[in-house]
Amino acid sequence: MKVLVPVKRVVDFNVKVRVKSDHSGVDIANVKMSMNPFDEIAVEEAVRLKEKGAATEVVAVSCGVAQCQETLRTAMAIGADRGILVQSDAELQPLAVAKLLAELAKKETPQLVVLGKQAIDDDANQTGQMLAALMGWPQATNASQVEVSGDRVKVTREIDGGLETLDLALPAVITVDLRLNEPRYVTLPNIMKAKKKPLESVSPEDLGVDVAPRLKTLEVMDPPARKGGVMVPDVATLVDKLKNEAKVV
Ligand code: AMP
Repeated sequence: MKVLVPVKRVVDFNVKVRVKSDHSGVDIANVKMSMNPFDEIAVEEAVRLKEKGAATEVVAVSCGVAQCQETLRTAMAIGADRGILVQSDAELQPLAVAKLLAELAKKETPQLVVLGKQAIDDDANQTGQMLAALMGWPQATNASQVEVSGDRVKVTREIDGGLETLDLALPAVITVDLRLNEPRYVTLPNIMKAKKKPLESVSPEDLGVDVAPRLKTLEVMDPPARKGGVMVPDVATLVDKLKNEAKVV
């Protein structure tokens, strides 16, 4: 069973991004970039499936600028067998990425595509769902447990009221949540090994996909600054302020 794992290069989760002065977006020049944290979990899960004998090959895919190669190398250091870069300098929105992944899925014929549940830069939570729709494959989002047996996969997902277990026929699309696993530490020998693994590069044109943006960002603003707090002398004053100033009770 081949597993395809899309990995996105995003601003590192520790970086506090700044809104550009013209409010057209956030400034990502010279900031640390890393693999989307949910995608690390997806790669880890795919590699565990391979280690258990349920998968035979793990292929990482990244769509974006040439530096996404670093993200693919990280995926290969975790244990992916090879990488595919869909190279484009254009702004790639979830629909464009889903179309690119669909074309790759048609070429690579994986039995499972495991994505992150969302990218921490756009917080879209759309790509996996769109990919499943384009392929006509079953999908299970926000997975907290994945069990493959034969040509089916059981996925446990966290929902508001508790846990839900879905039983899907393969091929299928799964998006992963935080509690699925804890990704392994990437060791230096594995980083060195990853440098020798195959990395193929294709363009959106090679795949016949028009990646032109469909959505336009109108304005990006900082959240309102927090106002300073005040000490109140007693509960009566607190209740009075909540009622008459904040108007929340
Ligand atoms: P999103 O729908 O943007 O929140 O992203 C959900 C998931 O889709 C991510 O966790 C990745 O697994 C995948 N994904 C999104 N954008 C890309 C990209 N440019 N390259 C590879 N995978 C992506």
